[in-house]
Amino acid sequence: MRIDIITVLPGLLESPFSHSILKRASQKGLVEVNLINLRDFAFDKHKAVDDYAFGGGAGMVMMIEPIARCIESLKAERTYDEVIYMSPDGEKLNQGISNKLSMDKNLLILCGHYKGVDERVREHFITKEISIGDYVLSGGELPAAVLCDSIIRLLPGVLSDETSALTDSFQDGLIAPPVYTRPADYKGIKVPDVLLSGNPREIDNWRYEQSLKRTKQRRPEMGGE
Ligand code: SAH
Repeated sequence: MRIDIITVLPGLLESPFSHSILKRASQKGLVEVNLINLRDFAFDKHKAVDDYAFGGGAGMVMMIEPIARCIESLKAERTYDEVIYMSPDGEKLNQGISNKLSMDKNLLILCGHYKGVDERVREHFITKEISIGDYVLSGGELPAAVLCDSIIRLLPGVLSDETSALTDSFQDGLIAPPVYTRPADYKGIKVPDVLLSGNPREIDNWRYEQSLKRTKQRRPEMGGE
């Protein structure tokens, strides 16, 4: 998979892709993430990518021209399955969206800043708008990193244990069960006996029951009955 990210702050996105699972995914050649600096597509010598809002009001707006030039030059190289704009009023990100996007080959993500992008960009260049929640951040970079992490960890071969992503919360409409590791007894606070029983059937049953219980308590709308 290839993910191209258009940003005015590429430095902000370097770190999330340089550690742990996302780093290994790139090293293994399972994903290629490219950070594209929107300022390289600016039209004036000051590299401006934003301007005052028509009609007045506080805050700058990202101009259509540099974004259009950038997207068009990228599209000349390859076909994108989706051109995504990170936006607080977009479709709220969930596991289903990440699962679906993980099957795509080429994704292009646009990070907004300031008051956001000129509406005409959204109307004419964007195929999907994604929000990471009902709150406003100062830029689309952290949301883009969240989206990419949720997608990349699903790519076959990225997680060492192939089943690991499948047993995470939300994958089967359930919250994951509690997990424990050594020591089995921490100052009298013990791990549930069943997990030490060595009986895989009983352990599976216990985990399933715990998942149902948690889902009912924490995400009743998921319908873990
Ligand atoms: N004026 C806009 C907010 C702009 S915030 C509004 O009221 O809707 C600046 C940029 O940060 C946005 O263009 C978007 O790319 C990003 N952003 C902020 N919050 C976000 C969220 N919850 N999800 C995804 N992107 C977000």
